[in-house]
Amino acid sequence: MFNENPMLMLNVSNHPSSGWSKKQRDGYHVVDIPFPEVRTTQDGAVLAAQQIVSKVKAFETIHKPTVHLMGELGACVIAATQLHSMGYDVVHSMTKRISVMGEDGVKHSKFEFAGFREYFPTMCSCGRVATIGAVCDDCFGRDD
Ligand SMILES: [Zn+2]
Repeated sequence: MFNENPMLMLNVSNHPSSGWSKKQRDGYHVVDIPFPEVRTTQDGAVLAAQQIVSKVKAFETIHKPTVHLMGELGACVIAATQLHSMGYDVVHSMTKRISVMGEDGVKHSKFEFAGFREYFPTMCSCGRVATIGAVCDDCFGRDD
């Protein structure tokens, strides 16, 4: 069993958490799971997704860990759908692109972490993404 304070996050990607910013790791104990190789066959994405799901399930914890899933799109869709149906929170990173003009006159792009986003967000009845339980910021505390 893992110490679940901070929360456990399984990072299924080829971006090891050792290279993450402090902001990205904040509040989480991150365990890296390399994103499997996806074969270029029709069943390649399904096979990779099966590997991902079985590796995630191997972590026996009281509360299901959050799964950070980023990699080949086809495998991500299948694995995210399966993990979500099993009750896992599945997220990906949002990044903000910052362009900087270098001293060499060449424009460089820097990517800055801007938060995690759920693959399957809970929706507020108003149609916005819920942020507090099942309601959005605007509807929170409103009586009507
Ligand atoms: Zn709302």
